[in-house]
Parts: sequence; structure tokens; C-alpha cells
Amino acid sequence: MHVLLIFLDGIGLGTDDPQVNPFAIADTPTLHKLAGDQRWLRGLQRIETERAIFLPTDPRLGVAGRPQSASGQAAIMTGRNVPAEIGEHYGPRPNAPIRAILDQGNLYKSLVASGQSGALLDAYPPGFFAAVDRGKRLLSSLQHAVRSAGVPIRTHEDYLAGRALSPDFIGTGWREFLGFPDAPLYTAEQSAGLMAELAREHNFSMFTTWITDEIGHRGPFEDGVKYLELFDRVMTALLDCWDLDNDLIIITSDHGNMEDLSIRQHTESDIPTVAIGAKRHEFAENFSNLTDITPGVLRVLTS
Ligand SMILES: [Zn+2]
Repeated sequence: MHVLLIFLDGIGLGTDDPQVNPFAIADTPTLHKLAGDQRWLRGLQRIETERAIFLPTDPRLGVAGRPQSASGQAAIMTGRNVPAEIGEHYGPRPNAPIRAILDQGNLYKSLVASGQSGALLDAYPPGFFAAVDRGKRLLSSLQHAVRSAGVPIRTHEDYLAGRALSPDFIGTGWREFLGFPDAPLYTAEQSAGLMAELAREHNFSMFTTWITDEIGHRGPFEDGVKYLELFDRVMTALLDCWDLDNDLIIITSDHGNMEDLSIRQHTESDIPTVAIGAKRHEFAENFSNLTDITPGVLRVLTS
């Protein structure tokens, strides 16, 4: 069985306001279908459709304040209430207590220990690794979990060879911002095909993007709409080529942000989790918050 987790940083369920919430106006028919022909907005309950379960998810975890990436992602990766354990929402990068929690055990370590393979499908440029090695930059909690289990973080060489994905799906970022004029470009559909192909090489794969959170902090609104419409095309193509009878796709996030562009900070909104395909009911058993993701993935992959 293959599980693909698609992580969009900083997307929550916001109000039905097309002035501030890209989810309220973007043309995203496939995303709507995954929520019973509804927009991904505040007030949605758990929705079961023919091939998916839409799960409003609590990222607050009983701790006051705006949820942050490091503690939220660590909760996703460990199944532990990390904000409660450290006494606050913390981010964007993990502090020493969060790193220690991730090192004690996480989804990737559990998979490796049970003989399953895990992968991170997105690639990072040389400057990223140089800054990490010099101690100038900390890995995100997701990346820290990956590396702590001995799973490689993919490089520009992987991206150039067609063995990794770009957080913008289409690859223009590698050409325009990262200085790789010959980097491959993809349509949304081609990117989805590559994602499926790469995900089938491992029991568990994760694709992560920070772009949604970046748009949440800086805008502009149109970029949020554009990115969601691109993601919708990716999902349309992915669902066409994914083996929904045997494999599972999960979409999730760590905290709200992009659904309210009237403010630049994170929100306290619920976030959307969607489970699509095989064993989605097993994954969604008793599901309510970020700590339920790792137990759910382990349940479907080890039962
Ligand atoms: Zn953020």
C-alpha cells in the first residue's frame, strides 16, 4: 500500500468572504467535490463522499494563542500534543525542546523501524543545505523528522533529474528564483503524474509546500486564488492516475493563515484534512486534531 501526504502550510477554514479568503472565490471544482460539493470554509462538518472523507481538524490543541508551524508540524509528525508539552505554540522553526521530541520518535522513524520506506518528495536548493550545515538555518519540524530517520532530503540534482517535486508544482521557482535556467517545467497535470510515480516508490511519501503560508503572510490575494486553482488541477490529475482502491492520499496543514488575508498572521481556524481512497475510514477513526495524523497513517500502513 502507498500513502501520499500532501502538506499545504498555513491553510485554514475561513469565512465565506471573497474579499479576504481565496477559498471563497477560487475556481476549484475538484476540491469542492472532496467536501461534498462545498467550498472549504468554516462551519463544515465531517463529510463523507464516494471516495473521500473531509475532516475539519483542530490545530489549537487546547493551548491559547495562534498555532505555529514548528509545534504544529511536530504534533503531526509525532502524534503528541507538542504545544501542550512545551506550553506554547512555537515557530516557525523548532526550538531545542521540539527537536528533542521529534528525535525521540516520529512517523518516519516508526515506519523505518517497521521495515517500511518513507520519502519526502520535494527538493531544496544548494543554498538551503549550505545554510543548514553552517547552522544559519534550522530544518522545519517536518524536515527534521525526515532527516532524523535517515531519510534523505532531496536536492537540486534530484529535481533536475526528475526525481523530486517543486513546491510551486510547475517548477518556475527553480528557474526564476533559484538560478537553474534549465530546470524542468511541468504543467499541473505532469506534476501530478510525477508525484504519483514518485509516491509509488515508497510506502509513505510526503509532499510539502510553504507557498500557501507565504501568501498568507504577504499576499497578494490573487496569488492565493491562483495557487488554489493550480492545486485543484494537480488534484484532478492526481486522482485520475492514483489507485484509489489500494492507495491513500491525505491532504492536511498545520495552522490557518491564507484563508484570511485581512491579517498577516496565522489564524486560530480549524484546518482541513482530507483522506481520499483506500482505508480512509481506518485513517479517519476518531479523528479530530493534528495529533491524529501519525496514528492514522501507522494504522493503515501496519494493519
Ligand atoms: Zn507562517
